[in-house]
Amino acid sequence: MLENLSQQPADKILALMAQYKADERPGKIDLGVGVYKNAEGKTPVMRAIKAAERRLVEEQESKSYTGLAGDPAFADAMIELVLGDSVARDRVAAIATPGGTGACRQGFELVRLANPQATVWVSNPTWPNHVSILKFMDMPQKAYRYFDDSTGGIDFDGMLEDLAGAKAGDIVLLHGCCHNPTGANLTLDQIDEVIAVMEGKGLVPMIDIAYQGFGDGLDADAAVTRRVATAFDNVLIAASCSKNFGVYRERTGILMAISKDADEAALSQQNMNYLNRQNYSFPPDHGARCVSMILSDPELRADWQAELEEVRLGMLELRKQLADELRRLTNSDAFDFVAEHRGMFSRLGLSPEQVETLKTDHAIYMVGDSRINIAGLNKDTVPVLARAIAEVIG
Ligand code: PMP
Repeated sequence: MLENLSQQPADKILALMAQYKADERPGKIDLGVGVYKNAEGKTPVMRAIKAAERRLVEEQESKSYTGLAGDPAFADAMIELVLGDSVARDRVAAIATPGGTGACRQGFELVRLANPQATVWVSNPTWPNHVSILKFMDMPQKAYRYFDDSTGGIDFDGMLEDLAGAKAGDIVLLHGCCHNPTGANLTLDQIDEVIAVMEGKGLVPMIDIAYQGFGDGLDADAAVTRRVATAFDNVLIAASCSKNFGVYRERTGILMAISKDADEAALSQQNMNYLNRQNYSFPPDHGARCVSMILSDPELRADWQAELEEVRLGMLELRKQLADELRRLTNSDAFDFVAEHRGMFSRLGLSPEQVETLKTDHAIYMVGDSRINIAGLNKDTVPVLARAIAEVIG
């Protein structure tokens, strides 16, 4: 039987990680994988997570199953973190999921149950896993224009034009903040225009928010999500705790579904529990419990926010330093967008050949579409990267 298998497409970022590991050149720089790293190149366990884990070891009396939706306290805490008071709590159904990836997957599954004819519209480009999961599930998908490589900004006219071509009931997948892979984000005025087009066509929003707190701050990063949440009867939201709580391997995420009223929310909840049951039964709990403990304890929450803020400001500083260096070395403002982008990533707009040269000649690893992980830099490597970029484009 197993001889019938064929090779599946390899994940390009994971392949790049392996190449980086095998590279023996000193001073090699990894700007590939999407994991936060501090100035020493480490991905530390956050202080508040350590404290919550210690408390959990002391206080947890059972590891028996949770409910199918996960710990209700986790749902309450995450709904508050992401949505604030933008939507009545009784309109929101939620299930804990294995990471933001699990939340996206379960969100797509819910769409398929509710409307198998729906096409899911994804930004061009988007996080490649959106595309590959939808393809794997054999769900209809189309891309809307989003990023303008020539300016490093958003092709907003193109985006609106493409969304105007969607049919009623189609899903529009938006990134809540810190767009991956580009770093370019819609302004609130732009999101209002997108909402107007979507309302006009009867489209349904799905938001993937994986970097809340990495851009302009926890509330500012949730502003687009909240604006969308208040505008529609139905909104799906996939949120990840991997980055902002640094619990990558604990697989901590949540799918929320906003329904038009409490009765519809109960039906959504029943369907979402069913989807958890079919796919993996009970969702992982350890990371979720740490997250809800942090969010509900004022002291832990304050410490978490302080550490997250250091992370955020550190990345902003690196962005500014890189933009300044590139401005000086290239004598142009062509890379000023690096300081405008938000989150962990920026797409530089380099050609695949230039990306390859950076790897072979400079031992600088970035994704083939020229996405860099800003957190892979520190103040000493920013000038090295800037010089290498200036050389390959020069
Ligand atoms: N969505 C986006 C846009 C992401 O960048 C990521 C992380 N790479 C995720 C979802 C999911 O991450 P995880 O499953 O690790 O929580």
